[in-house]
Amino acid sequence: MSSLPTDFTHTGLPMRVLFGSGRIDSLADELDRLGLHRVMIICTPPQAEAGQQVADLAGPRAHSVYPHATMHVPVDVADAAVAYVKEHDIDGFVSVGGGSSVGLGKAVTLETGLPSIALPTTYAGSEMTPIWGLTSDGIKRTGRDPRVLPDTVIYDPDLTTTLPPHLSATSGMNAMAHAAEALYAPDTSPIITLMATEAVRSLAAALPAIVADPHDQDARAAALYGAWLSGACLGVTTMSLHHKLCHILGGTFDLPHADVHTIVLPHVLAFNLAEAPAAAAALSSALGSDDPAGALHALNQQLGVARSLQDLGMPVDGIETVVDQVSGNPYANPREVTADAIRRIVGNAFAGVEPVRG
Ligand code: NAD
Repeated sequence: MSSLPTDFTHTGLPMRVLFGSGRIDSLADELDRLGLHRVMIICTPPQAEAGQQVADLAGPRAHSVYPHATMHVPVDVADAAVAYVKEHDIDGFVSVGGGSSVGLGKAVTLETGLPSIALPTTYAGSEMTPIWGLTSDGIKRTGRDPRVLPDTVIYDPDLTTTLPPHLSATSGMNAMAHAAEALYAPDTSPIITLMATEAVRSLAAALPAIVADPHDQDARAAALYGAWLSGACLGVTTMSLHHKLCHILGGTFDLPHADVHTIVLPHVLAFNLAEAPAAAAALSSALGSDDPAGALHALNQQLGVARSLQDLGMPVDGIETVVDQVSGNPYANPREVTADAIRRIVGNAFAGVEPVRG
């Protein structure tokens, strides 16, 4: 009986989730359930067509498509969306897309309190978290507020088949990063361990199949399931060194969000897992390897995604900038982080070498 969990705290978040191929057909019913008659459909400019298809499914409940979401939610984009809501008496909204669409929706709810439905089409997981972000003058402010959570999330893997292979792979690795860091979070729990382990297992199996055939229905369902679990882990735990580094790297050098997560994760895990044995055991079981960091590096190679920050366009003198920024801010981490350790982790990610354990 000694392996039974002892004390822990687990917070569950209240979203209603519909999962499965074709579940988008429930959208009109879900809008009726929430009593919404005049919604806007939020999406990015490239997903305007998908936004229109969603509006068609919503029928007379849809007021308009609002295709203006952009990465990292610039304040002026959020202000314009809030002004549009007020001007057109919008009574709720549907966010279709990845973290950018969901992020704009959160900014709208923060100001207006409007209810919403999320239809995720990437694996970023924002729809499962109370974390909002707003960017102005190149600086992203973030906060937690349960009011920004969508009322309903519809995970329909059919919506993800258009996500290109590269973005599918990196977005999936972004999801794995949430699960991996949740495993050693200071507020982790046995429930998180179950969800995170299953998330990593599901994503690791699905991503190579998706890159081989983006229309593989089973793989798309498995990846979206993993993304949901990863997002649910992210939503109720405190992230550590990996997320801190990626936030700084993306913001300082304007690097693509999911690619940065993909490249950095094996290097941070090679460092952190040395002092996070339970997380290491869970990841070993999920990845079928006693070297989870090496296994993720190998998976990146198999997926054919960029493996170095240098490839993404980060300048070499940026390594010291990151060392300064990360060293100056306290955050949760299972292992003490020295300036030398950050220099080694970021240097290895910059060069794209094998992750170095220990
Ligand atoms: P994204 O939403 O910017 O999408 C990337 C690109 O893919 C966009 O051009 C989009 O139009 C396109 N796209 C999305 N789904 C598609 C599909 N099915 N078919 C074709 N094209 C598609 O990127 P993302 O990685 O999902 O989200 C990144 C943003 O989300 C960042 O700003 C990040 O900080 C934020 N984020 C927030 C949280 C949170 O909890 N608040 C969690 C994860 C990510």
